[in-house]
Amino acid sequence: LAQLYTPLNQLGYTYRSMNQSLVDTERLLKLLNEPTEVNDRENAPDLIVENGEIEFDNVNFSYDDHTTALRGVSFKVPKGSSVALVGESGAGKSTILRLLYRFYDLQEGQGRILIDGHDIRDVTQSSLRKAIGVVPQDPVLFNATIAYNIGYGKLGSTSEEIEAAAKSAQMHDRILSFHEGYDTKVGERGVRLSGGEKQRVAIARTLLKDPPILLLDEATSALDTSTEKDIQNALQNLVKGRSSLSIAHRLSTISSADLILVLKDGQVVEQGTHKELVAMDGLFASMWADQVSTTDEHHPYAESRSSK
Ligand code: ATP
Repeated sequence: LAQLYTPLNQLGYTYRSMNQSLVDTERLLKLLNEPTEVNDRENAPDLIVENGEIEFDNVNFSYDDHTTALRGVSFKVPKGSSVALVGESGAGKSTILRLLYRFYDLQEGQGRILIDGHDIRDVTQSSLRKAIGVVPQDPVLFNATIAYNIGYGKLGSTSEEIEAAAKSAQMHDRILSFHEGYDTKVGERGVRLSGGEKQRVAIARTLLKDPPILLLDEATSALDTSTEKDIQNALQNLVKGRSSLSIAHRLSTISSADLILVLKDGQVVEQGTHKELVAMDGLFASMWADQVSTTDEHHPYAESRSSK
C-alpha cells in the first residue's frame, strides 16, 4: 500500500485544489484497488444540504454474485445526531459508509439512500462529497508542514484558522512542542506522528472543512488512556451540530451515541442507545460483556455480567 501512497502524496503537492479529502477517504473506504463505478446523471444538480438528515431506506447491496453485503438496511440519522455502527468483521459497517459516499450506486430495487430527502444518485458526486467529512482510522499525511496538512481542509485558510482548528482538535500543544511549531515537516520525511496524533490532525482538517455530515472510522489499535481522552474530546468538538455515522470497535467510546445499530451478516439485528441495548441482553450485550471482561474487570457493567 505504501507504494501507492507515494505518488498520491506527490499529486497532493501538485494539485492542491483537487478534491483534497480523496486520499484519506479512499484509505478509509479501502477502495484503492477498486474502480469507481459511479457516473453522474446528465445535468444532475448539486446537492443542497439544509439539515444533513441521512436516511437508508431498505438498502440491499452485493459486491458480487456470491455474497450479500447488506440486506434490508433501514435507519435514519436525524439532523445533528450521532449514529454508531457495530458488528463483527464483515458485518457490513464499511459498506454503509462506502454507499453513502457513493463509491457504488444502488441499482433499481436495491433501495434508496437519501440526504434531506434527496436520493444521492440524483445529485453530483462532487457536491455530495463536499458535504461529507471523513476521519479515517489511519490518516495519511502529506510530506509537508503540519500547517499545510491541517490547512488543506479549507483552501486559503489563515494561520489563525489553522491554529483554532488544532486547538479544538487537542493538537495545538503537541504542535508547539515541535522545534518549528506549525512549520514542522511531518510524514515520511519529517516528524513521524503517532496514530492518535495523525487522527487529531485529520480532525483539525475536517473542522476546517466544516461539513454538515461526518463519517468516522475509529482506530482499531488500542491507544493509551490520555491519547484516547484527547481524541474523544477532539471528536466531541467535531461532531457537535453535525450528523455523524461512525464505525466503532471499542464499544466504550460510543456509549453516548444517539443511536447504535448492531449489524450481523449485513442486517441490522438490534438498535437502540447503549443503555437500551445492554438491557436487551442480546448480541450487543454479549459483545459489551466480552469487551468489559478483557479491558476492565472493575467496570460497572462487569459486575452485572459476572452475576448472570
Ligand atoms: P470490518 O470490520 O472487517 O471492516 P465490515 O463490517 O466493515 O468489516 P464490510 O467491509 O462492509 O464489513 O463487508 C461486508 C461484506 O461484504 C463482507 O462479506 C465482505 O467480505 C464483503 N465485501 C467487502 N468489500 C468487498 C469487495 N470489494 N468485493 C467483494 N466483497 C466485499
